[in-house]
Amino acid sequence: MTTYSWRNAPSAGYAVIGDPIGHSWSPLIQEAALAHAGLSGQYLAIQVPDLEFDSALKRLRECGYLGLNVTVPLKERAYRASQPDREARRFGVVNTLRLGDMVGTNTDAGGFLDSLQGVADEPGPVLILGAGGTSRALAKALQDAGWNVSIWNRTTERAERLVSDLGFPMTVPETPDPKGFRMILNTTSAALAGESLPIPWERADPSTLAYDVSYGSKMSSFLSEARDHGLRIRDGVEMLIAQAARSFEWWHGIEPDRAIMRKAVEHLRWT
Ligand code: NDP
Repeated sequence: MTTYSWRNAPSAGYAVIGDPIGHSWSPLIQEAALAHAGLSGQYLAIQVPDLEFDSALKRLRECGYLGLNVTVPLKERAYRASQPDREARRFGVVNTLRLGDMVGTNTDAGGFLDSLQGVADEPGPVLILGAGGTSRALAKALQDAGWNVSIWNRTTERAERLVSDLGFPMTVPETPDPKGFRMILNTTSAALAGESLPIPWERADPSTLAYDVSYGSKMSSFLSEARDHGLRIRDGVEMLIAQAARSFEWWHGIEPDRAIMRKAVEHLRWT
């Protein structure tokens, strides 16, 4: 897939920004929905390093961009740079920006809950791995949906900061021990770095759902290890489609056809 640096990205209507960005399937999904809805406009993938966020945002606005999806590691910066709407304020994270008025919203949390339907309808204890922007939104969404949330992160202080910011009781275990959890939810970007997580899977109950928000053409080591230990598994594609559909509707005021969005990427999926 073609990706651009923010310094020389051509003018277009919409884009996903992040670093790395080459893994993103958002352009395929959003362009399929635009074409199906009869709307003109392109949706590009643009690399924006963490410390260049403000300069990149300025240039993309000057180039006439109307909306951006924001991914790893920029979601907390996007919150600070925008006027967060009610949904974004609920989570303290922005993954979708409208550049005209710089309003930001969050579609990750709603998209994630959409993807749980029929897969994990009964709340219970959940262990979230990671304490970045996605973890922050999903922890709050799960707590509000009645789940009992624990958060493990490679850098413990970041998990503790997240717990203090969100302001409701959560456990911060020292190790990612899966014992006793109904769901283990991986929100780390370890897979993007080709790294695996130190999870003692033999301690997990086989009825546990192992859910990885990452997606790709190759199954992540998180999911393959969980599957090898007999757990149910779920990758991030359905969440990707659901959050993309919510972003599309927020920008264009039209509910997109999720089946068209799914068809645009299902041939790339490892399943
Ligand atoms: P952030 O950069 O905000 O957070 C990354 C997290 O991953 C941090 O907790 C970081 O820990 C942890 N991490 C990074 N590398 C490793 C490693 N090698 N081992 C252990 N932990 C690691 O990222 P986001 O929250 O924005 O995104 C996280 C992931 O979620 C990405 O892969 C992204 O593509 C995916 N995603 C998928 C979506 C979907 O629709 N399917 C939607 C949103 C996100 P530390 O604090 O120690 O650095």
